[in-house]
Amino acid sequence: MSYQEAIDEVYEMIKNLPKEGQVANYIPELAKVNQDIFAVHLLTVEGDNYHLGENEHIFSVQSIVKVLTLTLALEFEKDKLWDRVNMEPSGNPFNSVVQLEYENGIPRNPFINAGAIVVCDILLDHLKDPAENFLGFVRRLTNNPKVSYNKRISESEKANGFRNYALAHFMKAQHNIKHKIDDVMDFYFAICSLELSCRDACHAFILFANRGKLLTGERVITVSQSKRINAIMQTCGFYDQAGLFSYKIGLPGKSGVGGGIVAVHPGNYVITVYSPRLNNKGNSVLGMKFLEEFTTITEVSIF
Ligand code: GLU
Repeated sequence: MSYQEAIDEVYEMIKNLPKEGQVANYIPELAKVNQDIFAVHLLTVEGDNYHLGENEHIFSVQSIVKVLTLTLALEFEKDKLWDRVNMEPSGNPFNSVVQLEYENGIPRNPFINAGAIVVCDILLDHLKDPAENFLGFVRRLTNNPKVSYNKRISESEKANGFRNYALAHFMKAQHNIKHKIDDVMDFYFAICSLELSCRDACHAFILFANRGKLLTGERVITVSQSKRINAIMQTCGFYDQAGLFSYKIGLPGKSGVGGGIVAVHPGNYVITVYSPRLNNKGNSVLGMKFLEEFTTITEVSIF
């Protein structure tokens, strides 16, 4: 069965399922999306594309971007980065405050909010114009100069980001945030507001399927770093549902509260699914269902 046949067949299986889940509404602008959009795009390491639905529709990637900020920060800091953030599954909600206090301001991993905020603080050491420079990095990966942030969404999150500010203030008290809170948080809200289509997201993540290289052959990270980032996606990519995602889908990946999920089959492909209704852990309901059926029907996963 070809990937396109598998995508089409799985869509037939899930398209009439009851509309379960809620769009994220703690960021008011995110709640305004069209809830019924469904899109999927698959890009192979050979450069072949397969898709269904609105694969060019741009959506707010939210936490998906944290894989890319980690990638850039690791380039600058190498293993020193792990002095300031851990690499263990959190088993707690992505915006949890309690665990951070027990663990003295060292976040469990770079994909929960506290960890991503520390990674932003680290990037401020290295980037002159952080938001612009990071955007340049994403444009290079996607080969799409139109990729951009959404100011309405970053401002909406900033106006309501009390928990994230609380995490940053607590880490500042523990000396794990070096820059001014406002500088770190403005950068954090900007990166979370990045918008990509399913097609763009596949291109942004293809280096993790392609042993650290883009499809042009250009090397971005080492083979070893690609392995390590996939490992962190596998163990920490789905909030406190990383175990369930591993069990059902069997691929490394990352979700965001915008409703996207990117999953990587190292050596093979990247697949991105978008459907904005989320379960109570913050993962796209239909996105997870689609990927579960897709890896089952194609009988390809890393396990
Ligand atoms: N910007 C969101 C937040 O900080 C990202 C959450 C997510 O996608 O997990 O809450």
